[in-house]
Amino acid sequence: MTIIDGKKVSEEIQGEIAAEVQKLKAAGKKIPHLAAILVGNDGASETYVGGKVKACERVGFRSTLVRLPDTVSESELLKKISDLNKDKDIDGFIVQLPLPKHISEQKVIETIAPEKDVDGFHPANVGRMALNLPTYLPATPYGILQLIERYKIETAGKTCVVIGRSHIVGSPMSILMARNTYPGNCTVTLTHSKTKNLKEICFSADILIVALGKAEFLTADYVKQGAAVIDVGITRVKSDKTKTGWKLLGDVKYDEVAPKCSFISHVPGGVGPMTITSLLLNSLKASKKEVY
Ligand code: NAP
Repeated sequence: MTIIDGKKVSEEIQGEIAAEVQKLKAAGKKIPHLAAILVGNDGASETYVGGKVKACERVGFRSTLVRLPDTVSESELLKKISDLNKDKDIDGFIVQLPLPKHISEQKVIETIAPEKDVDGFHPANVGRMALNLPTYLPATPYGILQLIERYKIETAGKTCVVIGRSHIVGSPMSILMARNTYPGNCTVTLTHSKTKNLKEICFSADILIVALGKAEFLTADYVKQGAAVIDVGITRVKSDKTKTGWKLLGDVKYDEVAPKCSFISHVPGGVGPMTITSLLLNSLKASKKEVY
């Protein structure tokens, strides 16, 4: 059984990105510049955006953080997005979600110019993903593809079961694993809360991608001997064994599932660390104009 170490892979890829930025600098070329819009001061969003800004610094990107109060109107936010769309110095940008209730997230996503949408949420980029055209892949699925590649997990002809059909994880993951490329060429089943016989379906999987957001949901009886299991779930639970008083659990009951697996990712330290790295990869693509 091999443990998929997302922290290690993430550090490797960020090292490669940093080396590329050094080369761009040495050649007098433009350094990638990522911007983030943060509305309000929700603690979790502050942490996520802070992590993204720090990662930019680590690899040598330029970054700009645009802070707006949570009272900002939808039209003011859309105007700010239009400004960033036109700003030639900014290669790509993200709007940190969730947004206050009075702002339509869909309108926001659709206002971002597809060529600067490094989160890969714009319908144009989702469509390009489905058509296997160059695009910005959404960060978490992109991170999972990187892990599959770096660990050389075979995918062609395999049965892949994805649990969860969200727009940010499960649904794109199912499209990507079915594409005619590597990683891909799987026979994919996308499951959700209305799926019947989930256990039997999961038991048929060579590759199981678990993203439903229920701590330790997937027990050993869902998993075929030798399967590769990728755990996307993150649930924060109280713990009297840690200094902080809480710990993170995945969607997989790791201790009993791991012995059956060929590959397995752990929470924390598996898929999570890859998400910001994927954003950096998308931003590099944007600055090199590799997609549009
Ligand atoms: P989400 O939007 O809440 O979607 C959950 C999906 O799971 C839904 O499609 C739901 O089905 C399905 N589901 C719920 N209960 C189920 C059950 N008993 N059996 C089968 N399917 C079930 O969640 P998400 O945003 O995709 O996130 C999923 C998990 O991944 C969360 O723990 C989240 O924190 C984590 N996550 C981690 C990262 C990372 O960087 N590692 C990134 C994103 C998310 P319905 O559609 O029928 O409701």
